[in-house]
Amino acid sequence: MNRFDPQRSTALAPSEVEALAGRVSGPVVTPGGEQYDAERAGYQIVRSHRPDLIVGAVGAADVRTAVEFATDHGLPVAVQGTGHALSGIAAEGGVLVNTTRMSGVRVNPETGEAWVAAGTPWSRVVHEAAPAGLAPLSGSLPSLGAVAYTLGGGLGLLSRRYGYAADHVRGLDVVTADGRLRNVTANSDPDLFWALRGGRDNFGIVTGMEIGLLPVTALYGGGMFFDGANAIGVFETWIQWTTTVPDEMSSSIALISFPDVPALPEPLRGRHIVHVRFAYTADDLSGGEPLVAPLRALDPIIDTLNELPYTQAGTIYNDPPVPGAFEGDTAMMGPLDAGAVRAILDHAGPHAPVPHIVELRHLGGRIAAPPPVGNAVGHRDASYLFNISSRLERADIDEIRPAHDRLLKAIAPWTTGGRALNFMNGENAGTVVDTAYEATTLRRLTRLKSIYDPQNTFRHNHNIRPAE
Ligand SMILES: Cc1cc2nc3c(=O)[nH]c(=O)nc-3n(C[C@H](O)[C@H](O)[C@H](O)COP(=O)(O)OP(=O)(O)OC[C@H]3O[C@@H](n4cnc5c(N)ncnc54)[C@H](O)[C@@H]3O)c2cc1C
Repeated sequence: MNRFDPQRSTALAPSEVEALAGRVSGPVVTPGGEQYDAERAGYQIVRSHRPDLIVGAVGAADVRTAVEFATDHGLPVAVQGTGHALSGIAAEGGVLVNTTRMSGVRVNPETGEAWVAAGTPWSRVVHEAAPAGLAPLSGSLPSLGAVAYTLGGGLGLLSRRYGYAADHVRGLDVVTADGRLRNVTANSDPDLFWALRGGRDNFGIVTGMEIGLLPVTALYGGGMFFDGANAIGVFETWIQWTTTVPDEMSSSIALISFPDVPALPEPLRGRHIVHVRFAYTADDLSGGEPLVAPLRALDPIIDTLNELPYTQAGTIYNDPPVPGAFEGDTAMMGPLDAGAVRAILDHAGPHAPVPHIVELRHLGGRIAAPPPVGNAVGHRDASYLFNISSRLERADIDEIRPAHDRLLKAIAPWTTGGRALNFMNGENAGTVVDTAYEATTLRRLTRLKSIYDPQNTFRHNHNIRPAE
């Protein structure tokens, strides 16, 4: 049943909203309507979209109708899946398409490929691919939306061995600003296929994707937790170690100020902890244990490394599965040294003004290699990805932003000037979008934007503006 409250629609005539509700199968909701808050809710709760109208799409036809309705009324369109990425650019007004009802996976064990619908979380793809001995290039948190993650690049647990998730896309079903549903492949429309994989939501709403899966069933992985008092030694050892490991080893290091709550294991409560996360994949997993020996020699207070089925890969990072309010920033980094460690720890140690998680992810390997079919994912030459995030439940935004800015300034000598689109979730996200791309990539995206979305209908996002 379509639910809406025409009396409360702020910007649209009730009769028009009613007519739209008759043309789509999913709910149509307007501000003040019973379901309005539930339809725009996501993992990130700091700044929700506040559209004039929400279409809870149940399939590609609903997405087409919603986009046509928006363009007929000159309204911008935003799209939300599982809502992990809301930033300072949440939509005010316009039409929001909620894809969470469009959840579905079809695995083809013969071809090693899967078709994944727009609102599907990675956890579902992982579990449906596993019986065929296959796995996708999913990321740290199983509840992430597979499609948005992939269109933003998709830095997976095994990316050093296999590249970005975007490099494994075979085809995309997308509704473009003209209301057409297109099946886009490298052959059918090379420009649009290139732009969507990295340019994400700037060129349309992807209703489903065809991806290549990997012959991975298990990995050697988990985490080592160290006392924050030893942070300098652990960070320096990890950095040196990352310059020696094979592509089969992906890892990251994080400095976390844990809250003092009973839900955490006792040794972590209320403490500064260094958490090193490992994901090793190879035909013979026994090679993993000797590889991690230099870190293990530093005496972790907790060590969870083990052979895991890929279906349990979400335990490696143990990211919080429940929604929260986060403010963060990100930076691509070149080679690191002891000076970089000092700059990070001077600002992120126990005396930091706000609680935070600071993280470095090791890049390189296949991430740095050009993919078989080129795409718009930026900054493949970076050595590390830096992330900082703080929970707004634990500090005020007016304290968090300056603290993050000070840290970014301190590490500036080691940054490349680039950012990773998928990790750009801070208040500043709307102003730094260009930094996700090299200049030539950005110029091509801008040119293609003026072909596929000249009115900038898809602008409530990390926006690439059409060329003037
Ligand atoms: C705890 C946590 C861990 C993370 N770990 C990783 C990681 O390991 N690797 C990694 O690469 N990223 C990671 N991310 C970032 C994550 O991949 C992105 O936030 C991703 O966009 C989330 O997808 P979503 O469906 O939840 O996004 P949403 O917030 O619903 O959407 C994100 C963006 O994608 C666009 N979008 C959504 N659906 C579509 C669609 N159907 N067509 C076109 N555009 C669309 C939206 O416009 C929006 O701007 C992490 C984020 C969090 C919060």
